[in-house]
Amino acid sequence: MDILFSLLEQYYDEMVAIRRYLHQHPELSHEEVETPKYIAQYHRSLGHEVREGVGGRGVVAKLVGMKPGKTVALRADFDALAIQEQNDVPYKSKIDGRMHACGHDGHTATLLVLAKALNQMKDELEGTIVFIHQFGEELAPGGAIAMIEDGCLDGVDVIFGTHLWTPEPVGQVAIRSGEFMAAADGFYITINGKGGHGAKPQETKDSIVIGSQFVMAAQQLLGRRVNPVHSAVVSICHFEALNPFNVIADSVKIKGTVRTFNEETRDQIEAELEEVLKASCHLYKATYDYNFVRGYDPVINDEALTNFFLEQVKETPQVDHIVISDPEMGGEDYGYYLQKVPGIFFFTGANTPGEENFPHHHPKFRINEHALLVAANTLGKLTLSYLDTYN
Ligand code: MN
Repeated sequence: MDILFSLLEQYYDEMVAIRRYLHQHPELSHEEVETPKYIAQYHRSLGHEVREGVGGRGVVAKLVGMKPGKTVALRADFDALAIQEQNDVPYKSKIDGRMHACGHDGHTATLLVLAKALNQMKDELEGTIVFIHQFGEELAPGGAIAMIEDGCLDGVDVIFGTHLWTPEPVGQVAIRSGEFMAAADGFYITINGKGGHGAKPQETKDSIVIGSQFVMAAQQLLGRRVNPVHSAVVSICHFEALNPFNVIADSVKIKGTVRTFNEETRDQIEAELEEVLKASCHLYKATYDYNFVRGYDPVINDEALTNFFLEQVKETPQVDHIVISDPEMGGEDYGYYLQKVPGIFFFTGANTPGEENFPHHHPKFRINEHALLVAANTLGKLTLSYLDTYN
């Protein structure tokens, strides 16, 4: 194990260089062309079996150890966002309106260099390691489902993955057994009322008043209808009725997001939001369109493997703090892998204490690059210990 840690430390500069190169060349979800080529080329130069175009744009590489054993998959995503970078750094994005603002550049660099280090150890390696480089994480339907359907988990016994996480400091890793990241759904509503003169409301069906009732009642669903032990969020993020000051709107458009962990709660909110909408419209004899769109399923961590993780990270260099995380209401399509094989997802802290910190998807998002080494050490330790323990 110490060999792995010293190799990773030795390759740290390369990890940073790859991350910065990818940072300068971001590609949008489902439009990735050069990034998967770069990844495939890197694995080929190591002599790994490589499959490109997996599920569309994914890359899967395989390192087969010289000794028999289990198969561990490691996953990193590689897509970027439609954001104009506002950081003034030498490795700033070279592409206008595109930015690695979620750390996926770091995930990819970590996994590539970890692959290189593990490759050096293949004579002693008991088992197989599958490197899953996933496209399109940021945009539903995501890349995970398509890659799974295209066989990226075939023969895999267990999967590990991490997200570089700037709400937490570098040196810290965080995990939680069970409900770790939420299901992320969306709803799209049009309320069709009847517009008219602002002075004569009695002749109209005021869609703004109806919409306002809906918004307030939707918030009360959480407090009065949903079981309080099941976490849930309903956020109305868009309310549109573009009219002059004295014209009552014909219709309003409302959009929002729903976050849940539990399938029953998810179904309940989907159904009851419509009930509330129907009731709000009923009084004014208005009609509505309601479209609830399911996004990613939740990320649910395996309990035994979470305990395995907690044991292993105690002895992982560069990991200073281990935290049992609160459930995170953000979404990730990693949960689909966990529906097929046992595994875990964890956060690798990536902010610099004392420096101003910007959230994921912010134009000034930045990571402390030392977190790449923390992530590589942790994923590497989990992989080798798993192959050793469960052989
Ligand atoms: Mn992300």
